[in-house]
Amino acid sequence: MFESLTEKLGNALRNLRGVGKLTEENMAEALKEVRTALLSADVHFKVVREFVDRVQEKCVGQEVLKGVSPGQQIVKIINDELVRLLGEGTTDLSGARPLKILMVGLHGSGKTTSTAKLGKLLKKRGYRPFVAACDIYRPAAIDQLEILAKQEELGFYADRASKDVPAIGTAALAAAKEATADAILFDTAGRLQIDHDLIEEVKKLRERIQPDEVFLVADGALGQEAVNVAKAFNDALQLTGLILTKMDGDARGGAALSIKTITGVPIKFVGTGEKTADFDTFYPDRLASRILG
Ligand code: GDP
Repeated sequence: MFESLTEKLGNALRNLRGVGKLTEENMAEALKEVRTALLSADVHFKVVREFVDRVQEKCVGQEVLKGVSPGQQIVKIINDELVRLLGEGTTDLSGARPLKILMVGLHGSGKTTSTAKLGKLLKKRGYRPFVAACDIYRPAAIDQLEILAKQEELGFYADRASKDVPAIGTAALAAAKEATADAILFDTAGRLQIDHDLIEEVKKLRERIQPDEVFLVADGALGQEAVNVAKAFNDALQLTGLILTKMDGDARGGAALSIKTITGVPIKFVGTGEKTADFDTFYPDRLASRILG
């Protein structure tokens, strides 16, 4: 469906055949293609500019290696730089026990589904996970989480009568302790857009439960808008990780590159489908190849 970045680079790079050394001049066309391709993969323009400058810095002055074409050499530099950027700062999950994870994000991003998916994954890793429904606005979201928790045999807590989110958090912690759970995931409410009241509510919950991880669930197809969303959540809640959803779709992953570069928040997991098993640890090299095509 997409012409890949590598293909797009093809023409620009052909002109480089035979050059002995990469210079700003002989690379200009290739870098223009890189810029256009990243913009069309929905990478934020500021990130594109920085990225292209960095690739140029790395390329200029390099002797073209024997046995490879200048094009291959540039593609490798671009790939290495993407992997480095995407993977920078990536750490394992907090080792705290009980492990408390706060899940935040916009409505429809895949937050509830990802909460159950992460619970399932933690169970596979030997935890006794417990999920808490903290969305007081959408009873359907509570039902959805309950169904998924039953299906995956995860502990579950909800208080459908309460409108006091921090109190729900405290009660959920007590219920999890009672159930001898050692990983507690809090699914919170989302809105269609960043909303001051919503952020304040999640901040209060955060203060109350003192999570070890705060994960933003973001739709991988969100495009450049993803950066504003991630910045707002990060400023208010000091995110510790990003879960990128719907990467089974057409999204090229530009959003991920933008969020990672601008906020510095590491990408931790990737959602690749609607089923609870469609969830994986994040691998920078896979996303780099996807962005490059
Ligand atoms: P929430 O409002 O953020 O809690 O979003 P939901 O968890 O209810 O998910 C919204 C929709 O996205 C549902 O139809 C999910 O099945 C779907 N969804 C969530 N994650 C993924 C994913 O990784 N891939 C695909 N294809 N769909 C997903």
